[in-house]
Amino acid sequence: MDLAAENQRLQGLIDRLVARIDDNQRIAQRFQAFEFQLLEAASLPELFDVLIDQAPRHFQLQAVSLVLFDKDYVLAQLFDALNLKRWLPKVQLRHREEFFEQLYGQRQQPVLGEVDTLSLGRLFPGAGPIGSCALLPLRTQGRLQGSLHLASEQPERFTPDKAADFLQHLGAILALCIEHCVAREQLRREGRQDPLTKVGNRAAFEQDLPLELARAERNHQPVSCFFVDLDHFKKINDNFGHSVGDVCLREVAAVLQKELRKTDVLARFGGEEFVVLLPVCDAEQAMETAQRVSEAIATMRVETSQGQPVPLTASIGVCSWEPRKHKIPVEALAEALLRQADAAMYLVKKAGRNGVRWQPLVVQ
Ligand code: GH3
Ligand code: MG
Ligand code: MG
Repeated sequence: MDLAAENQRLQGLIDRLVARIDDNQRIAQRFQAFEFQLLEAASLPELFDVLIDQAPRHFQLQAVSLVLFDKDYVLAQLFDALNLKRWLPKVQLRHREEFFEQLYGQRQQPVLGEVDTLSLGRLFPGAGPIGSCALLPLRTQGRLQGSLHLASEQPERFTPDKAADFLQHLGAILALCIEHCVAREQLRREGRQDPLTKVGNRAAFEQDLPLELARAERNHQPVSCFFVDLDHFKKINDNFGHSVGDVCLREVAAVLQKELRKTDVLARFGGEEFVVLLPVCDAEQAMETAQRVSEAIATMRVETSQGQPVPLTASIGVCSWEPRKHKIPVEALAEALLRQADAAMYLVKKAGRNGVRWQPLVVQ
């Protein structure tokens, strides 16, 4: 054979191999850069932002969607609390395993290639024309976390004969990130929650208070604060038992939640004391609300297991802040609001309990 021709053939082969290695290296770098972004996401909103909002551009995809497995409805609660609904329908929840079994069958392996129109509609609602897809089951140590779906306009982008190792690696990283972000969020929430009444605890209130006050200042909106102390609670425990006392605390928390706005910050401050911060609420509105809460507590019915009614009333102190009228640093303000609401509550106690009082804001 002609040596020159053989040389040329070999050179061509080498060129093609080098090009393939270059290609693979570029793909590897692109996946690695993306995986770093996923790993850096500290919360579910950050994770969804990287995955749903940034991935299509990063990988030049037509659409990306995610279905999370939420057997215990933990994620459903987080979706509400973290306002994750803004990613619907690109991020969805499924509470049963059937969805994933139908998608992946027995193999539980990634699915690459064409997908039927019905599935396309379900997996990528509202997306443009789709030529091929990659569907990846997401698992951590055998536990199903969900399913990631990538869609490309090009039919040749994802084909069954292509190696899926980059995608599988991405799926493994994503599954870990999801599990990590959910666990972190749950821990954060548990740390902020009063275990008995399930409302916020004092630490959560002290965390939120300066943020709410700063917001009120920015928006020039009034805020008010309640200090709620249950009357003669020691007697309730003594007369009916500690567990009845616990039921009362839970019921009072529920009544407070019902009577307050969703944006009001409610917390169990300690023992039989609750505090509330009411954004966008002036003194007059605060007194109306406090009156309503007071009546709701006095008329709620808690019974012992023998059907004996438990008498419950509360003393509520109120204090308000008008940013237009007072210029006060936020730390001094937080302290003054609570102190004066507490002082107002003591006036109610002195006057015979079961009532509402207001005290002006005094900065010391
Ligand atoms: P006042 O009307 O002056 O507020 O009287 P009080 O009895 O409510 O006030 P005091 O501060 O003397 O007692 C508060 C009681 O609340 C004493 C405590 O045992 C009870 N308490 C605090 N935390 C809990 C709790 O988690 N569960 C129950 N059952 N009782 C609690
Ligand atoms: Mg007390
Ligand atoms: Mg009390």
